[in-house]
Amino acid sequence: MKQHCNLAFFIPHLGCPNQCSFCDQRAISGTIAVPDPEAIAARCREYLTAGGNGRNAEIAFFGGSFTAIPRAQMISYLEAVQPFLGADGFSGVRISTRPDAVPEEILRILKEYGVTAVELGAQSMSDTVLTRNQRGHTAQDVQEAAKRIRRYGFSLGLQMMYGLYGSGPDDEEMTLRECMALRPDTMRLYPTVILEGTRLAQLYAAGEYVLPSWEEMLDFVSRAICRLREAGIRLIRCGLHAEEGLADRRIGGFYHPALRELAEGRLYLRAMEQWAEQHRSDWQSSKESVVLAEVATGCAGLAAGHKKANRRRLAEITSGQRLRISEDCRLRKGGMRISLCGQKDDGTAKRIGEEVYDVFKIT
Ligand code: SF4
Repeated sequence: MKQHCNLAFFIPHLGCPNQCSFCDQRAISGTIAVPDPEAIAARCREYLTAGGNGRNAEIAFFGGSFTAIPRAQMISYLEAVQPFLGADGFSGVRISTRPDAVPEEILRILKEYGVTAVELGAQSMSDTVLTRNQRGHTAQDVQEAAKRIRRYGFSLGLQMMYGLYGSGPDDEEMTLRECMALRPDTMRLYPTVILEGTRLAQLYAAGEYVLPSWEEMLDFVSRAICRLREAGIRLIRCGLHAEEGLADRRIGGFYHPALRELAEGRLYLRAMEQWAEQHRSDWQSSKESVVLAEVATGCAGLAAGHKKANRRRLAEITSGQRLRISEDCRLRKGGMRISLCGQKDDGTAKRIGEEVYDVFKIT
């Protein structure tokens, strides 16, 4: 099956009247180019004529508030992509926007222009956290907007931020739970990144905004990955994209180019820890043995952990057992067979304490 992809366009909201604590669009407004509709049409044409398979791709207008930009500008973008939708073109259009910017009237326009998916920047479902971060909308706005979007037959996407100013573990947990209760088709999870020129940057410098640790963040994200998977909600993004200039503007928070892999690597580690606990007597009594972890094709890196962190951790908790990882095409992603490779008395190899885990189901 071909992988789904987006032909994405960033549409900044330069005149945005809101001042979300994490947003730096005001600070960098002079440096962001607003794409013009012709350039967007040209890019779509180029994609399709270069052999890009539109059936597996959507045109995506991102930037946060697509439906809150001036109406004529929004329609000019939607009109620009019309020739590229349909049987020989892209499968649809996705947009992302604010929860308080999708009244019925807007949804009718989006429907008319072939928009298929609407993503809402929910960010938090705690009104206190939303207020502290100057979002300018409430959790109820998210709930009502999500229901309207569903009623109009769009695919619903929800975006959640982790670690916003004033958000504690209970708020994060409640936000994830309430987002899931709205039955989105997709979610994006964005651990907060502090950009210079933002309100968060000021609070951070003043010592008023203290972020959770990376450990806490990864723990939350890895658990969220499991819960969303279990609920059949596709997590389509974890962490900010490495867009141009992000590295220069970032002064703190959680950015890593492979944040999802870091979190998934944790799940493999959790399974190894569970195995080590279950089979303590095996590895304690065994001499010159190796822990063998067999995983699905392409998952050896996840099992080894970022910069081999999982190998080191397993050695730590098993008094120095070495970890050998091999791939087995019969295992599905998340599947991991762990055993201790030892020697029988006659010198032949034997496997001890073999267990099979689904790392997405480790509690
Ligand atoms: S994130 Fe907030 S401040 Fe930034 S453009 Fe969107 S609504 Fe406006």
